[in-house]
Amino acid sequence: MNDFDSTLDSTTAEWESLWLAPYAMHSVDTVGREHEESSHAYRAPYQRDRDRIVHSSAYRRLAHKTQVFTGEKGDYHRTRLTHTLEVSSVARTIGRVLRLNEDLIESLALMHDIGHPPFGHAGEEILDECCVNCGGFNHNQQAVRIVTRLEDRYPDFPGLNLSKEILVGQSSRIRGEKSSGRGQALLEVQVVDAADSIAYDTHDADDALELGLLDLDELLELPLWSDAARRVQREYSALDAEQLRRAVVRQVIDILVTDLVDTTTGQLKAANIESPSAVAGHDRRLVVPSREVFEQKTQLEKFLFQRVYRHPAVLAERSLAGDALREMFQRFSKHPEGLPAKSREQLEQTGVPRVVCDFLSGMTDRCALEEAGLRG
Ligand code: MG
Repeated sequence: MNDFDSTLDSTTAEWESLWLAPYAMHSVDTVGREHEESSHAYRAPYQRDRDRIVHSSAYRRLAHKTQVFTGEKGDYHRTRLTHTLEVSSVARTIGRVLRLNEDLIESLALMHDIGHPPFGHAGEEILDECCVNCGGFNHNQQAVRIVTRLEDRYPDFPGLNLSKEILVGQSSRIRGEKSSGRGQALLEVQVVDAADSIAYDTHDADDALELGLLDLDELLELPLWSDAARRVQREYSALDAEQLRRAVVRQVIDILVTDLVDTTTGQLKAANIESPSAVAGHDRRLVVPSREVFEQKTQLEKFLFQRVYRHPAVLAERSLAGDALREMFQRFSKHPEGLPAKSREQLEQTGVPRVVCDFLSGMTDRCALEEAGLRG
C-alpha cells in the first residue's frame, strides 16, 4: 500500500469511528471477501460493493421487471428497480439517523431484489413449482447465486466477490435462514428489511390508487391512513384529490419511518446495545415498529393482499405470466440446445433444470413474453 492509499484508508476508518454508532458495522471490521483483493485507493469496501451491484447486468434488468403491476399498465407505477431505489432511500434515511453504515445499507438495499424473476412474486411461485425436483426457487437465494456465481464481469473470480457481510445479510432473508444459528442480523440488514416493507406497503397502495384499483376513501377507513389524512388536513386546508392522495402517501411514509426510528432507538437504549456482537446475541430483532404501528401496518397489508394483490386485473397478469414461464421451462428442459451458448456451457456441471431456471429468472418481463410468443 502506498502513502496515498494508507491516508485514504485511515481517513475512512477515522471518519467511521467519529460518525458511526458503536453498534454499527465499521468497514475496518469486515471479514473480507471470498477471493482476496487488495484495498482500493479511495473507496471503502462497502462502497466498492455498491458500485459492483450498480454495474451488474442483473441490477439493470430490474428496470424491466414487475413489482406488482406489469409495464402493460402504463408508466406511473413502480418497477422492481424503482422499488429498489425507494427501499434504498428509506433505508439510508433510517441508517443515517441511527448512525449506521450507509454504504453497507445502500449495498444491501440495491441488491435485495436482484434475484427476482420476471412477473414479480407470480413468476417466483411458478419457477418454484417448475423446480420442485431440483431444490425449488426463491428470489433471495437467487440473489446470492447471482452475485456469487452467475454475474460474469471479472477475470479473477465468478460473481461480484462482495464483502461477506452482504452475502450473510442477504442470506438472512431466505426462508428458514433466520433460525440458522447465526444470531440476529446486523442492524444495517434489519434496517433494509424494515425499509423494504415500508416502501412496498406505501407505494403499492399509491400505485393501486393511480391505476383506479382502489379508492382513497377505502384506504381512509384504515387507522394508519386516516391518521395521516388528519395530519395533512391540519397543515393544508384546500387540496384537490390528487394533491391530497400524494400528501397522505408521503405522510404515511413519514409516520412509519419516524415510529421505526423512535422505537428502535428506545430498544437499543433499553437493551444497552453497544456493539454488532451484542446485536447478534440479542434474543429478537431490534429494528422494529411500535406495537400500535405494527398492528396498523398489518391491517394495511391484509387490506392490500385482498384488494390489490388478488385484484382480478393482477390475477389475470399472473395467469399470463404462469403460462409463459411454464411453457418456456418445459420447452428448454426438453431442448436445452435452444439455450444461449453461455447457459449451455453450464449444463454438464449444473444440470438442465437449474440452468433453465437461471436463464428464465434472469429475463425481463418483455423478454419473457416475447420468448414465449405472447408478445411480438
Ligand atoms: Mg423488495
